[in-house]
Formats: sequence, C-alpha cells, structure tokens
Amino acid sequence: MNYKNFPMVPRVIFGRGSFNQLNEIIAPMRLNMNAPFIYLIDDVFKSDSWLTSRISLSYDDRIIYISTEEEPKTIQVDNLVEEIILSVKERPSGIIGIGGGSILDLAKAVSIMLTNEGETHSYQGWDLVKNPALYHVGIPTISGTGAEVSRTTVLTGPKKKLGINSDYTPFDQVILDPELTKNVPKDQWFFTGMDCFIHSVESLQGSYLNAFSKSYGDMAYNLCKEVFLENTLSITEAQDKLMMASWHGGMSIAYSQVGVAHAMSYGLSYVLGTKHGIGNCIVFDFLEEFYPEGVRLFKIMKEKHNIELPQGICAHLSEEDLDTMVSISWAMEPLWENALGNNWKKKISPKQLRTMYLKM
Ligand code: NAD
Ligand code: ZN
Repeated sequence: MNYKNFPMVPRVIFGRGSFNQLNEIIAPMRLNMNAPFIYLIDDVFKSDSWLTSRISLSYDDRIIYISTEEEPKTIQVDNLVEEIILSVKERPSGIIGIGGGSILDLAKAVSIMLTNEGETHSYQGWDLVKNPALYHVGIPTISGTGAEVSRTTVLTGPKKKLGINSDYTPFDQVILDPELTKNVPKDQWFFTGMDCFIHSVESLQGSYLNAFSKSYGDMAYNLCKEVFLENTLSITEAQDKLMMASWHGGMSIAYSQVGVAHAMSYGLSYVLGTKHGIGNCIVFDFLEEFYPEGVRLFKIMKEKHNIELPQGICAHLSEEDLDTMVSISWAMEPLWENALGNNWKKKISPKQLRTMYLKM
C-alpha cells in the first residue's frame, strides 16, 4: 500500500470580519514595489463597495473582475495569465481569489501558470506541475465546494473537464469570513451547499474511506444536517457552520474520492454546461439506489427550502451528445471505483448510465 502524502493549506484564519485583516496578512509577502498583488474577484462584487472598499491597493496592485456565468476554462486561464504578464513590470507578488469555487479555482490555476511554461490544458491531470506556484490566497464568498482547501483546480479544457491536481495547487493562505456569504441568493446557497453534502455522502459511502476521511466526512455530513434540516440555528450560525462544513467536506475527499453524482454531473457539465452545484443536485435526486439515506435526506432538504430542480434536461439530446455524456462520465474511473468498488464495471454499464441520464 502506498499512502498518499498530500499538502494542506498552511495558514488559515476564521472569523466574521476576518477579511479586514487581509491587507496586514499579505503585506509581508510583497516582493517589491514592482511586483503587485493581483486580485481576481467575482464580478458580482463589482458594485458592492461593502467588500471591495476594504481592499487597499498599493503601487501596481490591481483588481480583475471575472464573470462566473460559465465555469472556468483552460483558455480563460491562459488569457488571464497573458493579460497579467503584459500589465506588470515584474512577476506579481501574489494572486488573491475572492469568490466561489469558480474564482478560487481560477486563482489557483493562474498562480500555477504564472510560474510554469506552456498552455494550461497540458497540466490537467495528476502531478504534472513542475514549479511551485506564486503565493496565492483564497477567500470564499459562498460555502460548499471545498475548493478553498482542496489540492485541485477543476477546469474545462479542449478535450476534458479535469483538475490540475498537484502539491502546488492548494492555497498558501485562506481567509474564512462567513460574513462574506451573507448576500448569496437562496437557490445558489442550496446548490453549492448540497455540493458539500454530496461530497460527504460520496466520501462516507465510498470504498476508499479510511478513518481520516471518515472523521472529516462525518463532521461535514452532520453540519449540513444542522444547517439544512434544523430550525434552531440563527442566520449567522448557519453561515459559520456551512463554511466549516465545506472545509471538512473538502478535507474528507482529499484522502478518498467523490462518487456517482460527481461522475454523472461531469457529463452534464461537459455537454450542457450545467454548473457543478445544480448539476450534482439534478443527478443526486435520482440516486436512491446508490445512496438511499443521503438521497432521502436530500429530498427532505429540497422540500423544506422550496427548491425546484429543472426536469427533463437530457430528453432532447442528440444520440451523439448522449454518447459524449456517457463517455465523459464513464471515464471518471477513480470516482466509479470509489463508489462501487474494484469491479465497478460489472455493477454498471454505459447502457445503464444512458438510461439514467434520460430520466434526468
Ligand atoms: P460559483 O463560484 O460558480 O458561484 C455561483 C454563483 O454565486 C455565481 O453567480 C456567483 O456570482 C455567486 N456568488 C458567489 N458568492 C456570492 C456572494 N457572496 N453574494 C452573491 N452572489 C455570490 O459557484 P460554486 O458552486 O462556489 O463553485 C462551482 C465551481 O467550483 C465549479 O467550477 C466546480 O467545478 C468548482 N469546484 C471545485 C472544487 C475543487 O476542489 N477545486 C470542488 C468542487 C467544485
Ligand atoms: Zn463537488
């Protein structure tokens, strides 16, 4: 047995209002006057001076606002890296990502590609990154993906949707300020929150589970139950707890894997552009057979929060698109192996997958 030896985020700060400490935290990391900090910020905050007015820009520091209409692409990372290189006198001191999973993943990828040659898509995979990334800071503004703590950055490339999974991917610093999540729209809160719930279920039900993953998975699972099923939490308690659930969910899959919902959601995303959180929910709703208790609770949560999921999204797909969807999902071998065990190919077939998609 060869056990994984993986890196963790070395510095983290948690607390309501901790965002105010950003400037003092990064100041010692400034290399010199010509090496700016570049902020990648979700453009939902463009008009929100409540957040951006607390960032103090010095010398050539700059903010790049980014739309999260679509999930991050390798070409988008290439373009951002080029834009940054053309605008700076020297290699930047650091990259600071402020937003949800999309922005956190972009910040990780840009910080890697500023120190590694070639095109981003050539690093999609496991341990392909050669040089350490630039100093990078992650500041989540919505809770659930675990991208703030994970060793990967999920990107859609020309041929595949796959992460840059490397020891250099995790953030050097994370700021967990639950107050930043206060304006998240209700549906999005649910979809991204359920990403965390599904991480915990898939990790806890998986064949890769060990005591390390289980301890984090149990924590994420129970925190999600509190946040989404109980009526006793105040709004601020719920924000605090969901932020920690996301962290634990991410830690849980670091040593295990996700499962069927993620494998199938990747297919939806690749062909239809369905976003990660809602895609997982659409799939998970149909997975009683694999995760009976998790899906039962999910349905109660959905009902309790009046969430309507789109129906019949695969019904009008061409044969070709359906084939692509199935093959993208089928290729997620570690996810299937975690979910169904070593002989997973005997337990599910591409034909069954197709039938399942057609129900969604
Ligand atoms: P997101 O980053 O795409 O954001 C979802 C929506 O919420 C956007 O419209 C955004 O503008 C809005 N939003 C975010 N914060 C807000 C706030 N405070 N107030 C108002 N609106 C706000 O969504 P997400 O679900 O956090 O991330 C999904 C992405 O994360 C996908 O690209 C997925 O592949 C990736 N992901 C990565 C990992 C990883 O380990 N790296 C794990 C899971 C998912
Ligand atoms: Zn996920």
